[in-house]
Amino acid sequence: MTDQLSGPATGGDVKLTGIGKTYGAFTAVHPLDLTVPQGSFFALLGASGCGKTTTLRMIAGLEEPTSGTVLIGGHDVTDLPPYRRPVNTVFQSYALFPHLDIFENIAFGLRRRGKKDVRKQVEDMLELVELGQYARRKPHQLSGGQQQRVAVARALINHPQVLLLDEPLGALDLKLRRQMQLELKRIQTEVGITFVHVTHDQEEAMTMADTIAVMNGGRVEQLGAPADLYENPGTTFVANFLGQSNLIPAQVTGAEGGDLLLTASGVRLAVPKARCSTDAKKVYLGIRPEKITVTRAGEAVAEGRNRLAGTVVDSSFIGVSTQYVVRSEAGQEIAVFEQNMDRDIRLAPGDPVVLHWNPAHSFCLDAAQAIDAGTGEEAA
Ligand code: ATP
Repeated sequence: MTDQLSGPATGGDVKLTGIGKTYGAFTAVHPLDLTVPQGSFFALLGASGCGKTTTLRMIAGLEEPTSGTVLIGGHDVTDLPPYRRPVNTVFQSYALFPHLDIFENIAFGLRRRGKKDVRKQVEDMLELVELGQYARRKPHQLSGGQQQRVAVARALINHPQVLLLDEPLGALDLKLRRQMQLELKRIQTEVGITFVHVTHDQEEAMTMADTIAVMNGGRVEQLGAPADLYENPGTTFVANFLGQSNLIPAQVTGAEGGDLLLTASGVRLAVPKARCSTDAKKVYLGIRPEKITVTRAGEAVAEGRNRLAGTVVDSSFIGVSTQYVVRSEAGQEIAVFEQNMDRDIRLAPGDPVVLHWNPAHSFCLDAAQAIDAGTGEEAA
């Protein structure tokens, strides 16, 4: 095989087939099949210990799989060492060379391969990551975000077909993380190569990725575009891990038109059949906090909406929205986010209210699953 690192990016999907990893009796990654389309921004998302880093490291060649194969652009690279694969990895610790300036840090990969005239390529990279004026600084003279951009430039100059990012923003504070998310997305769009990004931060994955694989317990629990996963979670884990969901235990009692009819502690609710991922009779009706409207008890509510009476337990004003916790007549606490648009109805604990929402905004999951999976508060 030719040294792909020295050639231009020729593209190709990353294809994992039956790839798995065990450590003794412990299975870190159950055999999984995954295709990352060429040119996409792909996120492996999950809580600590779910196997996302191990999966990334198997693509990089830093971890030997117990089973399965890794194909990049149609080539089987399973048995190749990391430096023979058309990939580069950016880690959370930038691992820049402290004694070299930024220009030389970025030039490093080219010089190591004996390239003489590196100026143009390094300057292009400096421009790509918007660090042109810092070329002669040392890494310690840059902020964390700038250092991480150098790390990205240093990897991209090798023209990998795939850039692997292992929690690259983990060391940055929240504001800088947000900036860097947009920055990384811009760079990926500009260079057009495949990025595979590992993160435990669902907002980060949703901001950047075209496709997210949500991992749980060494398995891919659900895969899809961020908005699809958010609107149509297939499991309680995904519903709770990606954003926040209210899950209301309910019983399927019938059907009407395109809707399933449910009862929750005697209250009748509806949910579109198309948004039900189960045939079970015991279900959870799922509704996101921002899809619910809260109205003072006694005020008019339009026909055709799901409604639940309740009492405000907690109210937090956080500027753009007010977040309520309401104890509902269905017996559980429901989170509601109300945008502070044109009125401030500021409800107080103890106020009787009606929660209501468009049935089309709810989804339905099999109640055989743990209701609190993915909340971080689930029973061990
Ligand atoms: P984190 O975000 O904390 O890095 P992760 O989802 O990336 O978590 P992995 O690093 O892939 O998780 O690890 C998956 C599981 O495999 C964990 O339970 C971890 O303890 C275990 N594991 C990882 N490396 C080894 C090893 N060398 N020997 C034994 N177990 C390991």
